[in-house]
Amino acid sequence: MDLIKLRKYVLDDLDLKQLNSGIYSEGWTKKPSGKVVESISPIDGRPIASIITGSREDYEEAVKKSEKAFSQWTKLTPPQRGDLIRLIGNELRLKKKSLGRIVSIETGKTTVEGEGEIQEMIDIADFAVGLSRQLHGLQMASERKDHRMYEQYQPLGVIGVITSFNFPSSVWSWNSFIAAIVGDAVIWKPSSKAMLTAISVMNIVTKVVKENRYPGIFSLITGSGREIGTLMSSDTRVKLISFTGSVKSGRTVSETVARRFGKTILELGGNNGSIVTSKANIPLSLKGVAFGALATAGQRCTTTRRIIVEDKVYDEFVHRLKGIYAGVKVGNPLERGVLVGPLIDEEAVKNFTAAVGRAKKEGGKVLFGGKVVKLKDLKDGFYVEPTLIEMPKVTPVTCEETFAPILYAFRYKTLEDAIEIHNSVPQGLSSSIFTTDLTEEEKFLSATGSDCGLANVNTATAGAEIGGAFGGEKDTGGGRESGSDAWKNYARRQTVTINWGTDIPLSQGVKFDV
Ligand code: NAD
Repeated sequence: MDLIKLRKYVLDDLDLKQLNSGIYSEGWTKKPSGKVVESISPIDGRPIASIITGSREDYEEAVKKSEKAFSQWTKLTPPQRGDLIRLIGNELRLKKKSLGRIVSIETGKTTVEGEGEIQEMIDIADFAVGLSRQLHGLQMASERKDHRMYEQYQPLGVIGVITSFNFPSSVWSWNSFIAAIVGDAVIWKPSSKAMLTAISVMNIVTKVVKENRYPGIFSLITGSGREIGTLMSSDTRVKLISFTGSVKSGRTVSETVARRFGKTILELGGNNGSIVTSKANIPLSLKGVAFGALATAGQRCTTTRRIIVEDKVYDEFVHRLKGIYAGVKVGNPLERGVLVGPLIDEEAVKNFTAAVGRAKKEGGKVLFGGKVVKLKDLKDGFYVEPTLIEMPKVTPVTCEETFAPILYAFRYKTLEDAIEIHNSVPQGLSSSIFTTDLTEEEKFLSATGSDCGLANVNTATAGAEIGGAFGGEKDTGGGRESGSDAWKNYARRQTVTINWGTDIPLSQGVKFDV
C-alpha cells in the first residue's frame, strides 16, 4: 500500500490544504518561524509531511490571542459553551474514518485503534456537553446565624496541554473539551512525533469554532518539548499545564511549573501489572492479558507489562499465553488481521533490544520473542516481536517502563506476595486481578491492595472508559483527566460566605466588640 497516496486521499477528505503550518492561533499562521520537522510513518520509516514548527515569537502571539479569546469565551454560560463542543463532536463523527487513518499512518496504530482514538474524542465531546449542565459546587451548613456557605468553580484562564505521541489526539480532547466547558482557552503542544494528526484534528475543530465566532479558544503550537514545552511550563500566563508523557519529562515540567506556583495535571508513565490467581477464569484472563500486553504494540500508558501468576496455574497459563503470542500477526497495521504494528521509531526499537538484554542479565529467561522484525516489504519500519520473559524476581529493568511489547512473568505463592510484587514498582497507573474469588478480589481492592489509580477486576489494565477519572499514583504523577469530577482540575475553587442577617457573628465563638 502506498502510504503517501493514502495520506493524500485522507487529507483531501479532511479538506486540509494548509499542511505545512504547525501553528494555529485564530487562524493558520502562514509562515511560522520555527524549524522544519519531518513527520515519519513508523509503518515504512518514510516521511509523510514536513511541518514548519513554532518559535518563541509564534508562541507569544498564540498566548496573546488565547488571552483575548478567553476574555470573551468565559462570558458565555457553560451550556452555551457545551453547545459548541456538541458541534465539534458532530464534525468529528463525520470525519472519524479519515482522522483515524492519519493516526494509524503517523503512529502505527491498527486501523480499528486509529478509529477508536477518534471515537474517544467523540465520547469526550458528548460527556462534556452533558457536564456543561452539571458543573456544581457543594453547599455547606454555616455555624453562623443567617449565613450561607457554598463553593463555586471559576475558569482558570489560558491553559496549556502537552501531549504524548501514543494517544496523539484523544488526550488533547480529554483535556480541552472539559476545560472549554469550564470556560478556559487552551494552547496545545502536541508530540513532535505526531504533528500531522494534531494539524488534521485542529483543522476540523477550528472550522467549527471559527464559524461560531470563537476562533481563538483552541490554539496549536508545534515544536520541541525543550523549547516550546519549556516556554509554556515557565509562563505565568498559562495557569495550568496538563502534561501527558514520560516520567522523565514530567518531572522536569512539574518542577518548572511548581517553581512559579502554577497548577499541573501529570499523566506519566505506567508499569502495569495483572495478578492471575488459581481461581481465575483462565480463558478470560488469557484474553485480557494478551490484549493488555499487545494492543498498540505495547505503547499504551496502561499496557500490561507484568503478570504475576499463582504457582498452581503458572505453567499452564504461560504455556497457553505463548500459544496466543505465536498466533499474533506482526505487520502493517493498516492490513486486516494484523494485531501488532510498529514501534514509533528507531530509538524505541533500540530501547526494546536493550531491555531484553538487561532482563537476560538480571536472570530473565525469554519464553517468546525478543527479536527485532524486518518485514520484507516494509524493511525500514520499526517492528519487534511480542516478547514474554520469565523473571525470577523483581529487578531494575522490570521497575522501568519500556515502551514496547515486553511482558515480564512472575510466580507467586500467596496473594500477599503477589500484591507486594505488584506494588514494588515506582509507577502506579493501572492494575488488574483475574479471579472469581470474592475474598481475593476484595483484598486486591482494599487499602493494602493495589496502589494504582486504576484497579480492574477480570479485565485488562488497558482500555479505560472515559467516564471514570483517569490517572495514576506515585511516579505516574497523581493527575486525573477525563471523567468523573476531573473537570474541577480545570477550574479554581472559590468558597463563598454570604451573611444575609443584621449582625456579624464570628466563627469559632470569637468576640470582637467594637
Ligand atoms: P515524552 O515524555 O517523550 O513526550 C511527551 C510530550 O512532552 C511531548 O509533546 C514532548 O515534546 C514534551 N516534552 C518533552 N520534554 C519536555 C520538557 N522538558 N518540557 C515540556 N515538554 C516536554 O513522552 P512520549 O514518548 O511522547 O509518550 C510516551 C509516554 O507517555 C509513556 O511514558 C507513557 O506511559 C506516557 N503516557 C501517559 C499517559 C497517562 O495518562 N498516564 C497517557 C499516554 C502516555
